[in-house]
Amino acid sequence: MTSPSSISTRLAQVKERIEALTLAAGRPAGSVTLLPVSKTFGTDAVQEAMAAGMQRFGENKAQDIRDKSKELAGSGAQWVMIGHLQTNKARDIARYAHEIQSLDRPELAQALERRLQLEGRSLDALVQVKTSTEPSKFGLDPVELEDFLAFLAREAPSLRVQGLMTMAVNDPDRDAVRACFRRLRELRDTMREKALPGISLERLSMGMSGDYDLAIAEGSTEVRIGSAIFGDRSYTSI
Ligand SMILES: *Cc1c(COP(=O)(O)O)cnc(C)c1O
Repeated sequence: MTSPSSISTRLAQVKERIEALTLAAGRPAGSVTLLPVSKTFGTDAVQEAMAAGMQRFGENKAQDIRDKSKELAGSGAQWVMIGHLQTNKARDIARYAHEIQSLDRPELAQALERRLQLEGRSLDALVQVKTSTEPSKFGLDPVELEDFLAFLAREAPSLRVQGLMTMAVNDPDRDAVRACFRRLRELRDTMREKALPGISLERLSMGMSGDYDLAIAEGSTEVRIGSAIFGDRSYTSI
C-alpha cells in the first residue's frame, strides 16, 4: 500500500521529471501531459491524486471504470480506458469513460459507435498501434492503420480520433524500446499527410514509468504513469 502523502510527493516528482525531459528534448514546456494510471488502486488513491490537481485517470478494465466512476460520481474525475476492450464491454465505456486509448479494430469501433449513439455521447479516442513483435501486446498492425483511420472517419462519427497510442516492447535493450516510440511518431507523420477528414493526429500517447524518458525524446505528448506515482501493483489483492 502507498500512503496518501507519498502519492502527492511522487506526483510532484514525476511532473518535475517530465518537464525536465521535455526541455532537454528541445520541446516547449508543458507539451507533455501526464495521465496517472490508477488501475488496481482504490478510489482513495484517486482522490489523493485529485487533491494534488489531477483529473483524468487511466484504467485497463471496463468494469473498474464503471465501478470507480460510480464511486466517485460528481467528483469531476474523468476515466480513460487504456486496456484491451472486448466488444461486449463497449456499453460501459460508452457510458462511463471520457476517452479510449485502446481503440484497435473495426468491430470495437462499431460496437462503441452503436453504444455511443444510444447514450447520446461522443468519446475522445486514440488508436492503439502495435509497434513491437511481442505476442502479448494488443494493438493494430501498422499496415492496417491507414484503412482503419479511413474506416473511423467514415463509420464512427461519435469517436473523436485525436492520435495514436502504443506500448513499447518490454526489453532491457533501451534502443529496442526507443525504436517502438520512433515507429509510432513516424507512422503518425505519414498518416497526417493523408489528411483524413475528422481525424486529428496531434496526440501521441507513449511512455510508462520505466521508459517515459525515451518516449518524450521521441515526441510523446502524453505519458501514462502508474507505479511511479501509486506504487507497486499487487494483483493478488484484486
Ligand atoms: C499499466 C499501464 C501503464 C502504466 O504502467 P506503469 O509501468 O505502472 O507506469 C501504462 N499504459 C498501459 C496501457 C498500462 O496498462
